[in-house]
Order: sequence, then structure tokens, then C-alpha cells
Amino acid sequence: MNIDILFQNALKIIETELSSLSFQTWFEDLKLIDLKDGKAIFQVPMAVHKKQLDNNYYEIIQSAFNQVTGTNFELEFLLEEEIKNKLEKESMKEEEKKEVGVPSSFNKKSNLNPNYTFDNFVVGNSNKFAQAAALSVAENPGKMYNPLFLYGNSGLGKTHLMHAIGNYIITNSNRKVLYVTSDQFINDFISINKKDDSGTNFNYVDFFKDKYRNIDVLIIDDIQFLGGATQTQQEFFHTFNTLYDDSKQIIISSDRSPDDLKLLEERLRTRFCWGLTVNIFPPDFTLRTEILRKKILAGNFEQDIPEDVIEYIASNMGSDVRQLEGSITRLIAYSTIMGGANITLNLAIEALKDFISKGLSEKNEIARIQKVVSEFFQINVEDIRSKKRSANIAFPRQVAMYLCRKLTTESFPKIGTEFGGKDHSTVMHSVEKIEKERKENHDLDNIIEKLMKDLE
Ligand code: ADP
Ligand code: MG
Repeated sequence: MNIDILFQNALKIIETELSSLSFQTWFEDLKLIDLKDGKAIFQVPMAVHKKQLDNNYYEIIQSAFNQVTGTNFELEFLLEEEIKNKLEKESMKEEEKKEVGVPSSFNKKSNLNPNYTFDNFVVGNSNKFAQAAALSVAENPGKMYNPLFLYGNSGLGKTHLMHAIGNYIITNSNRKVLYVTSDQFINDFISINKKDDSGTNFNYVDFFKDKYRNIDVLIIDDIQFLGGATQTQQEFFHTFNTLYDDSKQIIISSDRSPDDLKLLEERLRTRFCWGLTVNIFPPDFTLRTEILRKKILAGNFEQDIPEDVIEYIASNMGSDVRQLEGSITRLIAYSTIMGGANITLNLAIEALKDFISKGLSEKNEIARIQKVVSEFFQINVEDIRSKKRSANIAFPRQVAMYLCRKLTTESFPKIGTEFGGKDHSTVMHSVEKIEKERKENHDLDNIIEKLMKDLE
């Protein structure tokens, strides 16, 4: 039998054994490269797939191949470059770890929002790594990546993903999950110092310890707000250690990377990097339209929203998904107020005019600088916003980042996100480099002067 057909048949068997979510996430981009000498070699898109398939789906795949071929194959999952290098590695399969659920004796509030699930999280290039990491933590709490640290700008789906992990875990196991924002953690901690009627604070201490230690999964959202509270940081440090030592899963989110959490103690930041740190990026146009379509479908509105309206919103609103959702709500409300007027492009432009001009002006300055600099260096503006590293693009990009820093009030991380997801230190480094070269290189200095004038 041809190996493609054989693989398709094996996939059909695997598909029946998994949820469609797991199947899509882990198997959709899997390729069978080679099948001989008792060995099946697969190509996987990302390292997280490799780990997940090897640790958790090995037997399912093996058994599916056995059913199709009557032979047991040893499986190996490799990234594209590893296959290119033809690495002859013996596949070291980690010992299967058995699930241990802690029976929840009492049903405390988990604070989870049931509306945020993996099923209604739309996946695209900018968030697929974050989604895959989140799902593998949900499937193996405390085992795969501990802690999981998710970071990115506001409105990109961090909170959604964290709830999705929690909801997945409570539906598929009897583990106890607790979701809190760092504000709530601070409040709970402060209440330790309260005294009750009998003049003791004993109950509060017990309450705190019980709430935060007697759980299997701690999800703590927006950790950046812990920054100002020194004593609370210490308590969080102890909570973290206790849970971590017990192999309890910890999931943290923040608007910036651990390195940038300057107000947090060093020892906390170090711990945050022990597991997996994942950056979630702003959605591109395609993903924005997909999210809009999904929200429209879920909203079950009486009226259809035409495709040109969706594209108008996707290309004019910023990348904050909250604003995308808001624009749909506003559009529907506007049409209702207008006596159920048909939703057309003109109506949308009218309904969203305040929204859109606001969204634009925030992005405007960086976009304008990118455009002017790209034109000057005769490169494509898409390239300057990409990760491409060739010198003819990297240099103009540095100049543009430098100008953004000089001419706008945008932060290093924000500038970084607009230039292919560079982290703040890369932006800082580029700015310093151009500043220095300007002093030494008269031509460059002239170019920058000219660009600055053009931009005024
Ligand atoms: P963050 O915590 O990163 O600020 P949220 O998780 O609160 O962002 O997301 C803001 C809103 O956008 C939520 O209503 C969330 O459901 C929605 N959202 C964000 N990303 C997606 C996505 N990829 N698919 C569907 N909804 C999303
Ligand atoms: Mg959030």
C-alpha cells in the first residue's frame, strides 16, 4: 500500500479516538515522511507538537499503524530542519506518566467563565503557538510546562485562553482549579491582616492557605499588577513554591515578558521562566476576519452582516479583539436604533466612525513612519513589519524603530510588536545603535534628518 493512503487510513482511526480539537491541533499538520525498517518518521510543525505527540499520543498512533499494517512501528517526530539534517537519533520515549487526579472533596468556586473555551477560540498564525501550549497544559496539568507564562498586549486572548485551560481541566478531570487576577490575590492577602470579631486573624490565614494551596491548578491573570505590592509578592513566592514542589500546574499571564516585569522580585521572574514562556501576537487581517465571523455566528443576530462590512471592520480596527467585538455590538445596536436598517457598508461606516478614527490614530503614527521609511529605502512596507532579517530590510527597520522612539510616545514593547514582534530589548538595542551611528556617519545623519522633516 502506498504510504500516503496508509497514513490517511491510520489518521481516520486516530480521529475517532480523539476530540476534534485535539485531533486538529496535533494531527492536522502532521506529515508521514518515511516508513521502513520498523520505523515511522513524522514531520511536525512545531516543537510543542513533537513533545505532545511523543508523550501523549505515541500509543494511539502506534496502534493505528498496527491496525492498518499489522506491524508495530517505532515512531519518531522531527522538525523540518531536523529531517533535513537527517539526524539519526534513537527516539527516547519518556516514560508514560499516569494521570493522578485529586478528588475534590468540596466544590469551591473556581471563578472560571464557562464562555471562554478552546472551541470558541479562533486560531491563526499569531496565536497558534499560544493555543497549542495552552492545550497541552490543559491535557497534562503539572506535567508538560510548569509554569505556563502567557504574555502579550491587551485584548489578544490571554484571559480567554487561561479560562479555556481551566474549563478543559474541570470538565475532563476532578482536579481543583482556581482562577484569580493578581488584584484578587492581593485583596485576599491583605485580608490576612484583618482581625475578626474575637480579635484574631486566624480564620483569614486559614482561608488564604486553603484557597491557594489546596488546589491542583492556579491560574493567575495580569501578574504585572502584583508589581507594587512587596509583601504580597513574598506570599506569592511561597504559594508558587508550594504548588510547584507538589507538581501543581501554575498558569500566569502578563502584558509583558518576565524580563520586563521590572517591579517584580528577581526570584519570581526567574521562576516564571522555568516552564514555558509564550508570546501571543496581534491577529493579522485574516485572523481578524475569522474572529469577526465566528463572533457573528455565535451572536445569532437577526440580520446578516455582509462580507464587505466584515472586511471593513477587520482592516480598520486595531488588533485588540475586544474592540473587534465591540464594533459588532455597536453595529447591531446602531441598526436597531435606526429601526432595523439593513446592515450595509455605508451603515457600518456611519455607525463606527468614532470608533474607527480612534483605533486608527493610535496606530497611525507607527504606520506612517513605517510607510515613509519604506518608501525612502524602496522596500515593501509589509517587509518592514515582518521578521525578515536580510540586511536590506533589517537596516531600514532599525531606522524606522529609531524614528518611532524619537517621534512618538510609544513604548519599546509596543514598537516591537509593530515590527514583526521584536522584543523590547531588540528595539532598545536598535535605537541605541542608530543613535551611535548617526554621530559617526554623516550620511546616515542626513538621511535621518530628512526623514524626520518628511514626517513632520
Ligand atoms: P487579554 O486577556 O489578552 O487582554 P481577552 O482574553 O480578555 O484578552 O480577550 C478579549 C476578548 O477577545 C474576549 O472576549 C475574547 O473572547 C476575545 N478573543 C481574543 N482572542 C480571541 C480569539 N483568538 N478567538 C476568539 N475570541 C477571542
Ligand atoms: Mg486579560
